[in-house]
Amino acid sequence: MEKDRSKIIVKSGYLFVLTNFLLAAFNLVVGLLANSLAVVSDAAHSLIDAISGFLVVVGEKIAKRKKEKREKIERITTVCIAIIILVAGVHIVIESIEKLSEPDSAPEYSVATIIVLVGSIIAKYALATYLNRRGEQHKSKVLSASGAETMNDMLISLAVLASVLFYYAWGVDIEAYISLGISLVIFKIGLEFIFPKLSKHHHHPLETDPSHGTE
Ligand SMILES: [Zn+2]
Repeated sequence: MEKDRSKIIVKSGYLFVLTNFLLAAFNLVVGLLANSLAVVSDAAHSLIDAISGFLVVVGEKIAKRKKEKREKIERITTVCIAIIILVAGVHIVIESIEKLSEPDSAPEYSVATIIVLVGSIIAKYALATYLNRRGEQHKSKVLSASGAETMNDMLISLAVLASVLFYYAWGVDIEAYISLGISLVIFKIGLEFIFPKLSKHHHHPLETDPSHGTE
């Protein structure tokens, strides 16, 4: 059981690394072909996410060897991933404010952007769902944090896609506003992983409730 959990965490970590590497390569190729700086910078983001996948793998390998410190090591890995979540949130806020401060700049949405967005949304949604399910099954905060990070990225891509469609339908660029809204959600999620007491109300269905006592 314990062995299984360890194996699944390592496997999920590698899947996280692989998916983000593929996304980075995909974004880089499309971004360079379409000459889109935004798409290329998304590739850089996916590379950073790949690094947090390595963190999951390395953290688990250390935890497996130092059993008595497992809880502490898992906690450190979770906080590191939560910090990556918060950094992404800060980045989105800065980008949105930059965008709002130059309202004359027309958005450069291209076919390439739409292809990348749709591809990323599908891949990230599948990965996030997988990681969240594994995190719940094995009560692994590390995997849950990875899943949350991926789901946040998916939300941002979805918001950008919605903005593109909105722009073509009504000629108004709402991306910065939606992104700012999502960044609030991202901060909340990131902080909840660093300070678990903030999310006390999310009672985990697999956790045994001590208040029920023994029958
Ligand atoms: Zn990310």
